[in-house]
Amino acid sequence: MQESPWSPDTLVVTAGRPAAQPDAPLNTPIVPASTFHAGGAWEYAREGAPTTAALEDAIGTLEHGTATVFSSGMAAANAVMDLVPAGGLVVAPSAAYTGVAVRLRELADIGRIRLTIVDVDDTDRLRESCSGAALLWLESPTNPLLQVADLAACIAAGHDAGALVLVDNTFATPMLQQPLTIGADVVLHSVTKALSGHSDLLMGAIVCADSALTERVRTRRVLLGAAPSAFDCYLALRGLRSLALRISRAQDNAREITASLAHHPAVSRVRYPGWGTIAAIEFTGGVPFAEKLCDSVRLWVHATSLGGVESLLERRRRWPLESPVVPEDLVRLSFGIENAGDLWADLRSALDQLPGT
Ligand SMILES: *Cc1c(COP(=O)(O)O)cnc(C)c1O
Repeated sequence: MQESPWSPDTLVVTAGRPAAQPDAPLNTPIVPASTFHAGGAWEYAREGAPTTAALEDAIGTLEHGTATVFSSGMAAANAVMDLVPAGGLVVAPSAAYTGVAVRLRELADIGRIRLTIVDVDDTDRLRESCSGAALLWLESPTNPLLQVADLAACIAAGHDAGALVLVDNTFATPMLQQPLTIGADVVLHSVTKALSGHSDLLMGAIVCADSALTERVRTRRVLLGAAPSAFDCYLALRGLRSLALRISRAQDNAREITASLAHHPAVSRVRYPGWGTIAAIEFTGGVPFAEKLCDSVRLWVHATSLGGVESLLERRRRWPLESPVVPEDLVRLSFGIENAGDLWADLRSALDQLPGT
C-alpha cells in the first residue's frame, strides 16, 4: 500500500475515491450486484465488489493496512477467532466487548480454544500469560471500564511469545490510535460505531499489514459468508467522511462534561482516560441512581451502542451477559456532537433530581 503524505483528517475526506477522470463520480456509487460478467476485477460479491472495495480502501488507508469489511463487528471478530489452530491459546482482556468475551468463552467451553483472561492495564501479568499463546486479543481503552493498555509493550509481549496480536480499535478510531503502526498484526473495528457514525447500519472491518494474513481473512469472509451490502458500504463511507470532525467535537464534549461530572455530589466515580469519546460513571446512590438517570434524561438517549452523532447512555449491567467485573451501577456515556452546554444541562438536571443531592 502506498503511504500518503496527508494527515488523517484530510485522508478521511479523500481516501477510497475512484480515479479522477472526466465524468467520473467523486465517490463510488452503490453497485447492487451479486455477480459480474466474467473476466474482470469482480466475480461474485461475497469475494469483493466496487462499493465494498471503496470503503475498504478508505479504512485501510486510515489504519495503514489492507481492510476487509464484514456484515458486523462480531462477524469480523469471528473471522479472526477462526484463524486460531485447534486447542490454541487465546489471551484476552477481562472486560473485552461483551460479544467477544462471551464468544471466546463459548469456544473455550467446547474445547475449540484455550482461554486466559488478563487485565490489559497489567502489562507484567499480561506478558507472563502470553507464553505459548496463538492469539493475543487486545482492546484499549476497554469497554466499558476504560482501562488503558501500554499498547506498544503488550504488542511486543505478544510477539515475543509468537502470538498473532489483534487490537480492537473501535473506541479510539484511527483518528486517535493506529495500532498497525506500533506493530499490531490485526486491527478490528465495529464500523457500526464511530467509523460510520450515524447509528444506521451494522458492519465490521479487519485491517492487516501483511498480505498473506489479509488473504486468510478474505477467505474467512468468502467461507463464513458475512459480506456487507453495497448500500451499507456506501452509507458507511459517506459517514466516514466526517469522522475527524465528529471525533474532535465529541472528544471536546467528553473532556468538558466529565470534568463537570466529577464535581457532582451524586457521582462517586468518573472513568475517563483523558482522551476519546467514551466515559463511564458510578453513583453515590448505586443502581437506583443509575436507572433514574437513564429514565430522566431528555437530550441524552437511553440506548445501547456508541460512536454515533447522538449522545447515548446506558447502565451496562442491564445486559445479562455483561461481565461481572463491571460495577452494577456503571453507566457508560457515548459523547455525540451536540452542544456541550445543552448536554451538560440535560445531565445535570437529571442528576439534580436524585434524592439527597
Ligand atoms: C460494538 C462492538 C463490537 C461488535 O460490533 P458489532 O458491529 O455490534 O457486531 C466489537 N468491539 C467493540 C469494542 C464494540 O464496541
